[in-house]
Amino acid sequence: MARFKAWVVEKEEGGQSLSFTDFDEADLMDGDVTVRVTHSGLNYKDGLALTGRSPVVRRFPMIPGIDFSGVVETSDHPAYQPGDPVVLTGWGVGETHLGAYAERARVKGDWLVPLPAGLSPAQAMAVGTAGYTAMLCLMALDAHGLTPDDGPALVTGASGGVGSVAVALLARAGWHVLASTGRPEEASYLKSLGAAEIVDRADLAKPGKPLAKERWAAAIDAVGSTTLANVLAQTRSDGAVAACGLAQGMDLPTSVAPFILRGVSLLGINSVTTPQPKRRAAWARIANELDRDTLAAMTNRVGLAEVGRLGDDILAGRVRGRTVVEVG
Ligand code: NDP
Repeated sequence: MARFKAWVVEKEEGGQSLSFTDFDEADLMDGDVTVRVTHSGLNYKDGLALTGRSPVVRRFPMIPGIDFSGVVETSDHPAYQPGDPVVLTGWGVGETHLGAYAERARVKGDWLVPLPAGLSPAQAMAVGTAGYTAMLCLMALDAHGLTPDDGPALVTGASGGVGSVAVALLARAGWHVLASTGRPEEASYLKSLGAAEIVDRADLAKPGKPLAKERWAAAIDAVGSTTLANVLAQTRSDGAVAACGLAQGMDLPTSVAPFILRGVSLLGINSVTTPQPKRRAAWARIANELDRDTLAAMTNRVGLAEVGRLGDDILAGRVRGRTVVEVG
């Protein structure tokens, strides 16, 4: 039986170990499609899995990596044939099901999305879970009926993966984008993606008033905690905040004031188990609306052998934009 290169997390007393090793194809988990992985990405959750900082890995041994693009090698699923290019994000891959930092993955065909026309496998992972989540946030704001005529849109964690794609997508859709960052040195980078103004994340990080001056009509928040509370407190009447992240923390120390006095809506975003029709709609919009030069400008590339050392970097907020892991 074939062996292939993979990162493997093993449980150890008091923690976990991480190694780059040869993995036996016979040890892959059940699934009706086997994919030759060509690219993966680096996401915040990958940082948690690689370092063990949070218990996102719930099966050992685990191949981490929550998203991949690649080519179908074998399939018992009626929708997929050998040679089909595919994308996968979520569904517990890299957490409960053997994941993407490997040359092969075996998954349920029902989890896959055909690679959208016009996106290469490398571009699909430049988008990755983070960028696809940014699109789900934009779709939630659209569905709420908000448009650029309603006022500015704020993005928190703007220099990160979700944030960078969110800035680019909102700007492309015509929004006046306020980019909140703790890295003032990234101001010109964020403006190159389409941000109109930079907001110092320190202004949002500390506990604030339940209601404050109205500053934006819409927001995409990758940060959570007191930042999200302040974002809600400064959202215009009848505006909305799409919340997807917890880079500052999982808590939400807010009050009902923004909801009952300003009609502000908090829209929760879960990218992991999004049903297929919405998933495909998101990828189709990404293929149509995300400028490829802007995507390239926010993307770094690393080889599979290098990804193991990047977990601490992404958790510390030292990674800018998106990182593609070249596997194949
Ligand atoms: P990144 O690390 O790339 O981006 C996070 C950004 O948040 C950082 O770049 C930094 O931006 C900012 N940040 C980091 N630490 C803090 C802090 N302590 N306080 C305030 N801001 C901080 O991660 P991703 O873009 O991959 O993910 C962002 C978040 O979204 C994560 O929490 C992740 O778990 C979540 N997520 C959720 C999904 C879902 O389905 N709901 C799917 C994908 C991601 P800057 O330096 O510009 O301030």
